[in-house]
Amino acid sequence: MVAERLYYNASALELRALEFAATVTDIRLDSKDTNGQLWQISLDKTAFYPVGGGQPFDLGTLTATSRSGAVLEVQVERVEEDEAGEVWHYVRKPLMHETEIVGRVDASRRMDHAQQHSGQHLLSAIFLEEVGAKTVSFHLGADSVTIDLAVEKLSEEHLQQVEAAANRVIYEDRVIAPRWVERAEAEAMLQRGELRKLPERQGPMRIVEMQGIEFNACGGTHVASTGAIGSILVRRTEKVKQGTRVEFVCGLRAVETARRDYALLRQAAGLLSVGAKDLPARVEKLLQDAKAAAKELKLLKKAASSGTPPAQEAIHSAGE
Ligand SMILES: [Zn+2]
Repeated sequence: MVAERLYYNASALELRALEFAATVTDIRLDSKDTNGQLWQISLDKTAFYPVGGGQPFDLGTLTATSRSGAVLEVQVERVEEDEAGEVWHYVRKPLMHETEIVGRVDASRRMDHAQQHSGQHLLSAIFLEEVGAKTVSFHLGADSVTIDLAVEKLSEEHLQQVEAAANRVIYEDRVIAPRWVERAEAEAMLQRGELRKLPERQGPMRIVEMQGIEFNACGGTHVASTGAIGSILVRRTEKVKQGTRVEFVCGLRAVETARRDYALLRQAAGLLSVGAKDLPARVEKLLQDAKAAAKELKLLKKAASSGTPPAQEAIHSAGE
C-alpha cells in the first residue's frame, strides 16, 4: 500500500497539506550514497511532494518523540516517487519501522513552487488560446522557470498580449480546485477538447480545474485561486530545438527578480553617472568612442613603425 498523498485534495498552503501525523512503513539505506548515511523512509501518508512533472520536491522535517519524551527531528533532504508510486523521504538519521512521526513541509518553498506551477498552467492556457502556441515542456528551477512552446517565433507584441491577459485572470481571482474522475470520464473530456492530454496510467485521475480557463490532469501542488499566483512577468525568449523557450517568474519571485534587475540597472547607471533611462545611449556612445580610439591607435602604431607621421586627416577621420 503506497502512501496517501495529503496534498492531493487540498490547496498547496492549507495546513493539512503542510503538517501531518504519520507512521513509518519502511526504511532502507540509499545504495547510491557513498558514505552510507542516507536513509529512505516511506510513510503511510505524506504531505511531501516528490519531484515530478517539472516541479522540484518539498523540503521539511520529520519529528519523532520517544516514550521518554526525547525528541528527534530529521531534515528531509529529497523526496522521490518510485515506479510503484511509493514516496521516499531522504534523511540522514534512521527512523525505524512503525515509528510515529509529525511531518512539516517548508511552507515558503511550497508557496513558491505552487505559485510558479499554477502560473505555468495559466500562462500555457493563455499562450494556446491567444496565439495557438502549445506547451511541450516545463522546468521549474531555483533561478528560472521556463516553458517550451511548439512555435517557431513569438513577437514582442504577442508576448505582451499574453502577459497582460494572464495577469487579468490573476486579478479575476478564479478558483483553482482539484477533483477526481474515472479514466472513462477523463477520456470523454479529452474527446470534447476540454483536456489537452492524459497521462498513460490507469485508474482515477486528478483533474485540476482553473475556473473558466482550463482543465488539467495534474498531480502537482497549486494555489487555491488565480489571485494567489500574485503576478506573472515574462522575462525573455530563446530559440530551442523544439520551438521557443519562454522564461517567466510568478508571485514573490517576480518581485524579487524585478528588485534584483533594478539594482543591477542602478549600479550600471551609477558607474556611468547617468540616469537608468539614458544608460543604453551612454553605453552605445562609449562603444563608438572605444572603436574610434582603437582605430586611431592602429594608425599611429603603423606610422611609428614606418617612421613617417600619419596624415592629420586619417587621425581625424578615425576619431569621428
Ligand atoms: Zn498542476
